[in-house]
Amino acid sequence: MQTEKILRNCRLCPRECGADRYAEKGFCGESAAVRIARAELHMWEEPCISGTKGSGTVFFSGCNLKCCFCQNYEISHLGKGFELTREELAETFIRMQDMGAHNVNLVNPTHFVPQILDALEICGERLRIPIVYNSGGYEKPETLDMLRGKVDIFLPDLKYFDAQASREYSGAADYFEKAIAAIRRMANIAGKPIIEDGIMKRGVIVRHLVLPNHRHDSLRLIEELEKRFAADEIMVSLMCQYTPVYRAAEHKEIDRKLSGFEYKTAAERLEQAGFAGYFQQRDSAQEKYIPQFYSAKYY
Ligand code: SF4
Repeated sequence: MQTEKILRNCRLCPRECGADRYAEKGFCGESAAVRIARAELHMWEEPCISGTKGSGTVFFSGCNLKCCFCQNYEISHLGKGFELTREELAETFIRMQDMGAHNVNLVNPTHFVPQILDALEICGERLRIPIVYNSGGYEKPETLDMLRGKVDIFLPDLKYFDAQASREYSGAADYFEKAIAAIRRMANIAGKPIIEDGIMKRGVIVRHLVLPNHRHDSLRLIEELEKRFAADEIMVSLMCQYTPVYRAAEHKEIDRKLSGFEYKTAAERLEQAGFAGYFQQRDSAQEKYIPQFYSAKYY
């Protein structure tokens, strides 16, 4: 009932577009029906998330951001995916656990939070592995509060400081202010990072992808994190895998891969800041990491 009330006038994310998702799609491109495009073990998350057995990634269709360089544009922008009932979504989570996953990793879940909570309720005590909320960072604290006691690990992006960049590349001029407030709330909900035997149990890992010709924006973001968070409060994962896919070529300044110099500049600044976390190997900047997505249920 709560789910229906929320989705009748959807304000789950900062778009607050007010869509009646039983009658229409919101800005995120999704109606009330849950759609995913893939649910499989994934080895290429951070080492404490993928571990030795893999992370149980469930990729949700649609997105509240419109990033012109989105690697998953087939599902986030072009709408690929297939519908699941709440019961089927619950069974999908259990399937991840049965396959040996260290966690259930909800990829881009923001616009389906009420339906995911319904599915977790259906799973009940059968689901014993941590739940990871893996999002673009464009979130409302009120929506994150719904996840208290349900989600153990947050894996938000922090993409831009500069409003012009976030407007041009993702269609969200207010991205930084929304994302930094969301990360603050995530850290309050999850608490400090806890890693046992190399596997994360609780906490927040902020992901930042360094963009070509934007290293000064990366430096500014690291400075903002340093000002707002204690060094042991969050972890930071600095990524270099930027590839100019989808509509990136429309912006010539980001129509190339990242240089070693650009990544090193950001990496050295992050080291100074003292957050624990990860640096990505530059040889991982390849399209082979884009997984296969499906239009019909295949498992
Ligand atoms: S989740 Fe989708 S429908 Fe809801 S406010 Fe955001 S964009 Fe609009």
